[in-house]
Amino acid sequence: MHDNLIQQALQYLPHQLAELVTSVKSQADCLGQKAYLVGGIIRDMLLDCPNFDLDIVVEGDAIILAQEIAKTTEAKTLASHSRFGTAKLGYKSFIIDLSTARREIYPKQGALPLVTPGTIEEDLARRDFTINSMAICLSPCHYGELLDPFDGKEDLEQRLIRILHPQSFQDDATRILRAIRYEQRLDFRLEKETSRLLKQDIPMLDTISGDRIRHELELIFREKYPEKILNSLDKLNVLQYLNPHLKAGRRLANNFNKARLLVSANQLLSLYLCLLIYPLEEKDTEQFARRFKIPAKQTRLLLDTLRIKKQITLLSDPCMKNSEIYSLLCNYTPLSIQANIIASNSERARGNLNLYLRKLRHIKPVLTGEALQKLGIPIGPEIGKTLQFLLKEKLDDKAKTRQQEERLVLSTAKPCRKEGNNFHPPVA
Ligand code: ATP
Repeated sequence: MHDNLIQQALQYLPHQLAELVTSVKSQADCLGQKAYLVGGIIRDMLLDCPNFDLDIVVEGDAIILAQEIAKTTEAKTLASHSRFGTAKLGYKSFIIDLSTARREIYPKQGALPLVTPGTIEEDLARRDFTINSMAICLSPCHYGELLDPFDGKEDLEQRLIRILHPQSFQDDATRILRAIRYEQRLDFRLEKETSRLLKQDIPMLDTISGDRIRHELELIFREKYPEKILNSLDKLNVLQYLNPHLKAGRRLANNFNKARLLVSANQLLSLYLCLLIYPLEEKDTEQFARRFKIPAKQTRLLLDTLRIKKQITLLSDPCMKNSEIYSLLCNYTPLSIQANIIASNSERARGNLNLYLRKLRHIKPVLTGEALQKLGIPIGPEIGKTLQFLLKEKLDDKAKTRQQEERLVLSTAKPCRKEGNNFHPPVA
């Protein structure tokens, strides 16, 4: 007796998605193709967790099916990859992925697999874990039946992460990171043999390209509590395998908690990364960034974080003037300052970093270059120097109003030279 899950699926999905599943079914029938609902959505439906990423696998041609569905539904976009036989339909508030069922052969460990069209059974057999290798048939002959060739439903009930075959981690070691991510997200355990093979195959991570590992790290950072996953990776020595100086633990967990309270979702991923590399030296971070192809902008953020960390003793000085704090920090990205506010041990340094971020960096003289010319400052470098001088005075509370700024300019014939040149405003 097969489970029939279609009613459960249609009730679980929001109304619009349920209607789309019905359209997929009718269009596939018209084209004589067999369509299946697959992957994470089945896992999460059986666990009663929300997941609205529709993944459809087709025995036939996913691109032709997607084109037909786009004609009869309100799809806003249709993107297809003929090389992979995949298509993505975009709607107002969700997307559907369609792919042609495929067979995969790994020519070399860690390399991308050779892909040819295949059956749904072959498509499920190329997947990572039993709980991700279930499908619901949308075709009339077996409408609503659950395909579960690896007993994923049983593993869901037992709360186990299990690979499909002993070579799995060797074929694709990103599954090591994925296994721990699901284990921690779902509060499952690794099945015994899976756990043994995972530990044994950790060195296979060397066969994976930097881009693919970075992608998996990003997926970890998108989880609700990435620190739990990092902690588990630390205990298994996977983290140290990515870089020997990386560490998780209570301190990182506290810092991640603070990060979630302080910045918006779109900055969180970068901030997590800064906090993860915080114990590293600059040269190790550069190596980390090279190995995992971290984009240049994010690499700069990481290095800024470590350069500020080096200044923490200086920033802990209670006699530091505002203009000195400003000079020290004005060329660093705000998020790298935020990372230090979270991770630094020194309360006084944290106070100064906060002062800069909240107040000092927004301070500007009222007088503009034009206003200075009117006061008799000649066009040329003197204008810039006078503006720097005014900013310094303003930061140190020596000029509050426009009149006070004008008085300062007029009373100082060559203000910048008199003041010396130890103030460094931002580089434009
Ligand atoms: P979630 O997005 O909730 O983490 P998901 O199951 O939707 O879960 P995706 O990363 O979108 O996960 O992948 C879709 C499906 O593709 C997975 O369910 C899994 O079956 C398969 N898959 C993804 N990555 C791999 C991999 N490295 N090896 C084998 N199968 C994979």
